[in-house]
Amino acid sequence: MKKIGFILLLALVVLTGCSRGGIPEPTTETIEPTEPVIVEPVEPEPDPEPVLVMDESPVIFQMGEEAEEILPVQQALYLMNYDVEETSIYDEKTEAAVSMFKLTQEDLIPNGECTEWTRDRILLEADRRSIKEPNDLLVLANKTYYLAADYVPEDLVQPDVFNYYEDKRELREPAARALEELFVTAKEETGVKLVFRSGFRNYDIQKIIFERKVKERGFEAANQVSAKPGQSEHQTGLAADITSWSVKNALDEAFGETPEGIWVAENAHRFGFIIRYQIDTVDITKYQYEPWHLRFVGIEEATKIVEAGVTLEEYLGEI
Ligand SMILES: [Zn+2]
Repeated sequence: MKKIGFILLLALVVLTGCSRGGIPEPTTETIEPTEPVIVEPVEPEPDPEPVLVMDESPVIFQMGEEAEEILPVQQALYLMNYDVEETSIYDEKTEAAVSMFKLTQEDLIPNGECTEWTRDRILLEADRRSIKEPNDLLVLANKTYYLAADYVPEDLVQPDVFNYYEDKRELREPAARALEELFVTAKEETGVKLVFRSGFRNYDIQKIIFERKVKERGFEAANQVSAKPGQSEHQTGLAADITSWSVKNALDEAFGETPEGIWVAENAHRFGFIIRYQIDTVDITKYQYEPWHLRFVGIEEATKIVEAGVTLEEYLGEI
């Protein structure tokens, strides 16, 4: 091999020499291939201890200060489930929320000072949590990820099913068609008539509902049972609340124990729906048991989710 290499090298020297048009100089030097350099394996350095980076950026809002720039910070905190009001004033609630937000960040000192760095982090985190593909049938709207205030699906239709309200509620087309099939099949297989109560809700309506709940029960309790605007699956147009006469058409846990509620739990996936908030998944979904709340994801995905016995959060690896 050494010999062939040497010949090839010589040929190359000759050729390059020729291409220049001159007569190649005879070479007498022997070109030895270089010995491979043996690199000693280096012991990997142990991971350095995490360093707490001190936030030395300036404090930008003072307590009681009113400024336009405070509003986007409050909006971002509100969307991330902190109890703040959109006042543009750096008030006590805002300070407490900033402090709590900083607690979630390993490298920020958890106090209520809103530094430049803190503000940037709040806005960045709020942006990270905003849903970028709201039309995806697997869209995840929950207490972490939220829809834009102006998001309205383009394919809303009224499913042709028995409605609870006179002003018939809407769903996205694939969910509406699937609900129609589910209702027909439920009637055929159990003889029971299901009732469609609620479908798409826009941001503003959800805001009214949530704020009413906050007035009744306080922020924390309201957050347990109701979705904040932007965080409701109903805004995706893929969630349907259904019930039946046997529970007086209420949206009640008792629906889960009725023959029709049991049938729905066992069969919804055949039509592309899952029971989104199960009795034993409150820790993950952050919502109480809602046997009436169906979420459309498509037959294939619903079947996989049901077979795996997981929540949508777990299925999407988002917990
Ligand atoms: Zn619902």
